[in-house]
Amino acid sequence: MKTKITNVTVYNGLGGVFKNQTLLFDENEILFCGNGPIDKEADIVIDGKGLSCLPGMIDMHVHLNLDGAPDISKTISEDNEAFAAFRSLVNAQKQLNAGVTTVRNCGSKYNVDISLRNAISQGILEGPTVYAAGQPIVMTGGHCHFFSLEADGIDEIRKAARTQIKAGADVLKMMATGGGLTKGVKPGAPQLSEDEMQAACCEANNAGKTTAAHAQGNEGIKNAIRAGVTTIEHGVELDDEAIQLMLEHNTYLVATLSAPQNVIKYGEEAGIPKYAVDKNREALIPHRESFKKAYKAGVKIAVGTDAGTPFNFHGDYVTELEIMSQLGMSTQEVIQSATYMGAAALGVQEVIGSVEKGKKADLLLVYGEPEENISTLRNIHSVYVNGKCMVDNAETSRVPSNSY
Ligand SMILES: [Zn+2]
Repeated sequence: MKTKITNVTVYNGLGGVFKNQTLLFDENEILFCGNGPIDKEADIVIDGKGLSCLPGMIDMHVHLNLDGAPDISKTISEDNEAFAAFRSLVNAQKQLNAGVTTVRNCGSKYNVDISLRNAISQGILEGPTVYAAGQPIVMTGGHCHFFSLEADGIDEIRKAARTQIKAGADVLKMMATGGGLTKGVKPGAPQLSEDEMQAACCEANNAGKTTAAHAQGNEGIKNAIRAGVTTIEHGVELDDEAIQLMLEHNTYLVATLSAPQNVIKYGEEAGIPKYAVDKNREALIPHRESFKKAYKAGVKIAVGTDAGTPFNFHGDYVTELEIMSQLGMSTQEVIQSATYMGAAALGVQEVIGSVEKGKKADLLLVYGEPEENISTLRNIHSVYVNGKCMVDNAETSRVPSNSY
């Protein structure tokens, strides 16, 4: 099935904006992208006047088995495997409806995300492309131990890494420090050591996989960078040395700025445990200052939301982009972080992440011009995964699709 879109503004994901473009694609690749019109035949022709086309967006940090309920440990303790799977599917579909065509799931109990990835890739279910971590690897009693593999010392970490790779993980998620949503751990304190994380990174490299480290405090962040992780998650306290190390090691930052914002906004009144509200309140300002410093220094930034954490709903991706924009990034930089940078951090930038001939047609059409207002990205017209239309709001409504 060939689709042609005429008269459309293309944001190519690499920093370019091109008006009056014609796009032609099928279920293998983008066949043409350039100044229109072209006389090639297509099965479907869409008049793109008033629309903008972007690469499908990538959320580098989600938890599909969580849905924004106030207490994550309660959800996880109450869900059995089947229920966690149903919840994960619904959340994956909310992501897709919001224009997110690829998600990296940064931790699920029971490796439910790995099974969901397989079901989607085999065509049993419809959803975004999933890159799955399965169970995170943490020290005994470490951050999110209630849904993770606990391991201590180089040998046990190596075994845990191999266990996750054997289970089919695409990415190994590790906890380099404590975190805000686990009772009794300090967000600033280091957890897995540099040596331990290095063992997991070595196994990931050997298997052609990537790695992600939850890292809030400076010491743990530096341990993770030196160990060789692909992405630093959150990066709440980044001093100059940490930023320098990220530049030297080509480490990506996935900041998840919307996570603490939502915890603080809704607070204890909404049922979020007091320890979580207090720890997130302390993190908010250093987190944003660190983000600004990293951005100014030229650290590579890929968008992740931590969707699933309290009141941080799947499908509300654009909130993260709005915060990044408020903190000083240009619209083009935000779009590049939301598309190409995510693909590069997943190692699939040759396949997705930009609107270019030969790439897979993971595409998003929105009403209006994001350049004028980044929030325009809420106004979804349609969403394509590998050339197939998965979301079509064109005939039904022009109302934002993410009003869950
Ligand atoms: Zn997370």
